[in-house]
Amino acid sequence: MITTLLAVLATAVVTAHAVAPDAPPALVQLDIRTAADLARLAAVEGELLVCEVRPGRHEALIPPDAVPVLQAAGLNPAVIHPDAHAAAAAERRRALDTLARGEPDWWADYKPLDAVIDKMHEMQARRPDLVEIFEIGRSWEDRPILAMRITGPRAEADPCRPAVLLHSLIHAREWITVMVNMWVAETLIAGFDDDPYITDLVNRVEWLFVPVVNPDGYDYTWTDDRFWRKNRRPPDPIFDRMGVDLNRNFGYQWGPGQGQSNYPGSPTYRGPAAFSEPETAALRDLTLATPQLRAHNDMHSFSEMILFPWGYTPALSPDHETFDALGQEMRQRIFEYRGRNYAVGPVFTTIYAVRGGTVDYFYGDRGIWSFSYELFGTNFSPPPHQIRPNAEETLPATLLLGEFVADRYGFIADINRDCAHDFYDVAAYLNLFIAGDPAADLTGSGTVNFLDFTRFIELFNQRR
Ligand SMILES: [Zn+2]
Repeated sequence: MITTLLAVLATAVVTAHAVAPDAPPALVQLDIRTAADLARLAAVEGELLVCEVRPGRHEALIPPDAVPVLQAAGLNPAVIHPDAHAAAAAERRRALDTLARGEPDWWADYKPLDAVIDKMHEMQARRPDLVEIFEIGRSWEDRPILAMRITGPRAEADPCRPAVLLHSLIHAREWITVMVNMWVAETLIAGFDDDPYITDLVNRVEWLFVPVVNPDGYDYTWTDDRFWRKNRRPPDPIFDRMGVDLNRNFGYQWGPGQGQSNYPGSPTYRGPAAFSEPETAALRDLTLATPQLRAHNDMHSFSEMILFPWGYTPALSPDHETFDALGQEMRQRIFEYRGRNYAVGPVFTTIYAVRGGTVDYFYGDRGIWSFSYELFGTNFSPPPHQIRPNAEETLPATLLLGEFVADRYGFIADINRDCAHDFYDVAAYLNLFIAGDPAADLTGSGTVNFLDFTRFIELFNQRR
């Protein structure tokens, strides 16, 4: 009996120890100059609070007792807050208070997952003729991954209408990306009918939004750990560590090499196989179901960058010149807002090696003009009054992708609707014109006359 009791007590003690929460991490700033510095940080189970690493002074989470170790190693840690989670809780309270008191400006503060979904439904209710919400998959914890399609009338009868995909929050803690992405959707909806430029973009382009690619991770940053990055894949049996870095799980050049990790505890863990995660598979399936998809932007935070392929190699892509020209134009548009100068370039050489990321997959596998932002900021939570300027600043650059695909692929003058722009369209138009077919009325005058013919030639020559 005594033996049994002791055994029970021993089990209880062991269990209690096993489930006792670790000491909360300290929030520090430290220097990362070399791969050796990164290794020293990893050795104490520290984590850099950046989206992608580059040399510099960064915020990091470390066990409180690791400060002297990193000091001795020359990383110059300076404690910002001895309990990082306590610091984050204040931010969460503020944002939830803003929501609870019904602040009318949705962009006044960050929003939890439910509020983001509510906002999507509100957009659909406001303009059901333009907005359609649909589910593209389910996360590990069975949360829906929602997409929103925004496009003008007749999209169903227009299989050639080019599509642009804007997705955000693949990394759970990069909250501002959701706000910035939703702002683009809001602009398209609010500007339709009133603003000719916006109306044209909505009519000529199918806009697809996935504001929260990683809903489990996002929710977890609002309930438990503000600094969580990965998805919520259940713990692996050997190391007992959770989560996959979804931006290392895409199936182009997935596997060993620079810019990823095969250790389940790593913030950049690539997962057991390409597309092993339901969240990345959902994005892949949306892409496969959208053959007219021509461009995408994967929004991250923070570093003030416009990035394009490649991420896995320093070699330049075959389309580097076009990528760079587009990237420079985006940079210029951002600069004009308040003089903020984003860097432009391939992922690998501009920020860091990233293997198995979205940019390489969308371009390398799907042949899509593929971009990624690292938004403005010095941490994952720019103060809430910075949300709207961040959104307004990047909007014209993001819309450029729509202009680009509309001009390049969305031909109004594609009369025979074969998604190509060639002499057969001229023949098809002449047939309609001679027959006086209402479809030949390109000026919308109600009759088919010489002005329509002139308009066709004009559109055709502009490759529209
Ligand atoms: Zn990121």
